[in-house]
Amino acid sequence: MIDNATNEDDFKDTEAYRDSLATVDKSGKRIWIFPKKPKGKFYNYRKIVSYLLLIVLFGLPWLKHNGEPMFLFNFMDGKFRIFGVFFTPQDFHIFVVAMLIGIVFIALFTVVFGRVFCGWICPQTIFMEMVYRRIEYWIEGDSKAQRRLRKAPWDTGKIIKKISKEAIFFGIAVLIANTFLAYFIGMDKVLNIITDPISQHTSGFVAMLVFSFSFYFVFSILREQVCTTICPYGRLQGVLLDKNSLAVQYDFVRGEPRARIKRGTEQSSKGDCIDCGLCVQVCPTGIDIRDGIQLECVNCTACMDACDEVMEKIKRPKGLIRIDSLVGITENINALITPRSLGYSAILVVLMILEAFLFIGRSEVEVLLLRTPGMLYQELEPGVISNLYNYQLINKADSEYDIDFRIENIDEAVVEFVGQKPRAESNENTEGALFIKIPATVLKGRKTKIKLTARVGDKVLDNFSTTFLGPVR
Ligand code: SF4
Ligand code: SF4
Repeated sequence: MIDNATNEDDFKDTEAYRDSLATVDKSGKRIWIFPKKPKGKFYNYRKIVSYLLLIVLFGLPWLKHNGEPMFLFNFMDGKFRIFGVFFTPQDFHIFVVAMLIGIVFIALFTVVFGRVFCGWICPQTIFMEMVYRRIEYWIEGDSKAQRRLRKAPWDTGKIIKKISKEAIFFGIAVLIANTFLAYFIGMDKVLNIITDPISQHTSGFVAMLVFSFSFYFVFSILREQVCTTICPYGRLQGVLLDKNSLAVQYDFVRGEPRARIKRGTEQSSKGDCIDCGLCVQVCPTGIDIRDGIQLECVNCTACMDACDEVMEKIKRPKGLIRIDSLVGITENINALITPRSLGYSAILVVLMILEAFLFIGRSEVEVLLLRTPGMLYQELEPGVISNLYNYQLINKADSEYDIDFRIENIDEAVVEFVGQKPRAESNENTEGALFIKIPATVLKGRKTKIKLTARVGDKVLDNFSTTFLGPVR
């Protein structure tokens, strides 16, 4: 992206990269990428961040709170736990606001910091570049050795390397699949599926196999195609980034006109880029960052390390490829606070305040009380009208409660449970039926609104209301 350059005539910008994908040839066949093994300061930082995130990812499903998983997203049974707090589908509104916060946060983060998430935090990149790719380098060598091996005949050495690599790849895919499943059904159930006979958990075992082969396919075969052609976040970059957004960028003002160093040639009229191609060779998506910001760039910073090493060798300042904005490169200004970022920040703050209110106002025990379908009122005793209701208690707390219902707006009203008084089991739904009886003289016509509270002693757990049917007066 060099349209705003100050010395445009000097730049080599064929724009050809805009019409094609670096990983697809003219006949439409995939070009397999053999990126050179990255090394350098940013790669070392990325390793630290990645391994910390991997510890978190693999560790969280093992954490428990009061004997229950600390994090659980069981969509099948409608049970969710985040930091040990139990949520049910009745908390759907909290999740909707949380999702909106997530979307606005990602938009804001991308507007300001570009696609840094992809290269440094996204599990796809972390597993691909920091786990699978490193195993590949370890078994098959750096990019040149990998190319040679691909072309080599299938002798014993190649067969052993390929089989051992794919076996390790599949083993890690199984590990990822089991961890992934643990977030949905809990680690205890995953361990049961692993240790019990297959016949006892056929569907769980099938799910494990499907996830394992899917992850193997993604990391062994699909690879960078996930980021360059499938991931929707990548596709959004065109609308989220602007000239103030930070991203991995080539400083074309300093770098152009690029020219290879030739002995005895005057280099002072040339830019700092010596056209060595190392930044392209290390790129895991196969692009040339010197063409400008591209959808395929995951901001992994491998090209920054490669170029810094070159600059060090030729004794020129580092940072020819760096994290900067387009205005930073052309005008040496960095404006992180723009009307756009301020707008997103304001929306984010409002949503976060709303979420805090919803969370604080969330009751430990939620009550659903509905008149039993098909039932009208009854007059079981002279002058006393009764209605039959079904109730559901959703206990989101880790404690059990013996619940009482009290009608708050009609003193003469009485609640009579069918059978035992309800006991709300922890993290469970409890259902039952009850009668509400009210003297006919205090009813306000055919429908009377009644307000109730669910209580444990004097502690109010939930406020709710319903209507009471009586005779027309
Ligand atoms: S690594 Fe640096 S010097 Fe080499 S081609 Fe890329 S931008 Fe130019
Ligand atoms: S251009 Fe640089 S930052 Fe972007 S994906 Fe390639 S190596 Fe990573």
